[in-house]
Amino acid sequence: MKYISTRGEAPPVSFTETLIAGLAPDGGLYLPESYPEFGHGAIADFAGQSYADVAQAIVAPFVAGEIEPPILRGMIDAAYASFRHPAVAPLVQIDANLFALELFHGRTLAFKDIAMQLLARLIDHVLQARGQRATIVGATSGDTGAAAIEAFRGLAQVDVFILYPHGRVSEVQRRQMTTVEGDNIHAIALEGTFDDAQACIKALFNHANLREELKLSGVNSINWVRILAQTVYYFTSAVALGGPNRKISYVVPTGNFGDIFAGWIAKRMGLPIERLVIATNSNDILARALASGAYGVTGVHATQSPSMDIQVSSNFERLLFEAHGRNAGALRTLMARLRQSGGFTIEPAPLKAIRAEFDAFSVNETETTQEIARAWREAGYLADPHTAVGINAARRAQAQNGKTPLVVLGTAHPAKFPDAIALATGQRPPLPAHLAGLFDKKEHFTILPNDQKEIERFIRARAGQASRRAAS
Ligand SMILES: *Cc1c(COP(=O)(O)O)cnc(C)c1O
Repeated sequence: MKYISTRGEAPPVSFTETLIAGLAPDGGLYLPESYPEFGHGAIADFAGQSYADVAQAIVAPFVAGEIEPPILRGMIDAAYASFRHPAVAPLVQIDANLFALELFHGRTLAFKDIAMQLLARLIDHVLQARGQRATIVGATSGDTGAAAIEAFRGLAQVDVFILYPHGRVSEVQRRQMTTVEGDNIHAIALEGTFDDAQACIKALFNHANLREELKLSGVNSINWVRILAQTVYYFTSAVALGGPNRKISYVVPTGNFGDIFAGWIAKRMGLPIERLVIATNSNDILARALASGAYGVTGVHATQSPSMDIQVSSNFERLLFEAHGRNAGALRTLMARLRQSGGFTIEPAPLKAIRAEFDAFSVNETETTQEIARAWREAGYLADPHTAVGINAARRAQAQNGKTPLVVLGTAHPAKFPDAIALATGQRPPLPAHLAGLFDKKEHFTILPNDQKEIERFIRARAGQASRRAAS
C-alpha cells in the first residue's frame, strides 16, 4: 500500500516511511492511496473475536508486504496486554440507547495509549531493522505526551521531546510527563498554547536540514498510524452492539479531529456508521465550520477538558482533502489562506459532503459540569470532563434523531481530572494502583519561550546525548 500527501507535492511513500515520518515533506498529511474494504460477512465474523484479533485483521492490509503478519501480531499482542481491562475497550450503558466506549484502560488513562502502544512498537521495530536512531517529537494538550513518554521510555533507539502548554494541563497529566526517569525523555513546558506547540512541531518538520540531521519522527495524530490504530475500536464496539446488521452512530469528544476521523475511515472500510457527531468544548471552531462553512481561528479558551483546548484541528485537513474529491490543489489553497488570514470558507459542495456524515455540538463549561453530575446521579457513571462533553452532545443528537444506538467515546479516566469530578459530584475518583505515588515523585521539565530557534537549539543540544553517554 502506498501513502499520498494531502498537499500533492510529495512523492507517494510506503507504510514504513509514513510511520517514521509522520508529516509529509510538503507540509501535508499522509493518507492511503485507497481504503481496503471489509464486506458484511467479514465484519460479522469479528463478533466474539478478541480485540487483538480484530486489530490484526484491520491493520494487516495497510502494512502488507512490509511487516510480516506474525511479527505484526506479536506487536499487537504486546501493545494490548498492557491494558487493565481484558476487553481493552469495554462498552458501558449509561442511558437508553446510549453507551460509553471506555478507551482509557491503558497505562496513562486516556485513549492515546491505544494507538501509542502500537505506534512505539512499530517505530522501534523499523529502527532496529534499519540500525537507525530517531528523535521523536510531539505537541500535547496533555494526554499524547504522557502516552508517548510511557510507550517510548524503554526504547534505546529514540530520544523523545514533548512540548506541552505551560500551566494549561492538569496536574495528573503534567506529572505523568515529568516524573518518568530517563536521559532520553524531555518534557518541555512551552510558554504558549497547544496550537503554538503544534505549530512549532510542524515548523521543525518543515526545516529540511534539521529533519534529516535529527531523523525527526512525529507521533501526533498527524501520524497516519495513530489514526489507523484507532479505527479498530469502532469495529469492535459496533459488532458488540449488533453491527453490521444494524447501524451505529458515534459521538466523539474532539480536538485535533484524529479520533473522529478514524471513525470516518472505519466507515469507508465498510462499517455501517450512521452519524459521526463532533463534540467540542467552548473551543468550537469545528461546530462553527459545520454550521456556517467558515473555518476561522479565534483565541483558545482554557476549559476543564484541556485535551480539547485546540483551535487548529490538524486532521480536519484529511477530511477536507476527501470532501474535495482528493484535490490537492484545492487543499493547498485552503491551507495557504489559513496561514495568511487565519481562516477559509468551505465551498458548498464539500460542505454538503461533510454535513451528509457529520454533526457537531459545542458544550460549554456549565453544561459540562451539569452533565458530569447528571451521569453520576442518573446512571452512577463517573465521566471525565471530555467524556461528559461527549455525553451531553449525544443527548442533543438523540433528541434530533432518536432510534440509532449512540456510542460516546470515553476518552479519559475520571481520575485524570479529579477536581472537575469533585466539583460536579462530590466524589474524588482514586488513581488506579499503578499510579500510586505519582504525587511524591520528582518532576523533570524545562520551561522554554514560544520561540522556534530556542526550541531547535534545545533539541539539537540534547538529541543523541543519552546514546553518546552510554557509548563513552
Ligand atoms: C486527545 C484527546 C481528545 C481529542 O482527540 P482528537 O483525536 O485530538 O480529536 C479528547 N479527549 C481526550 C481525553 C484526549 O486526550
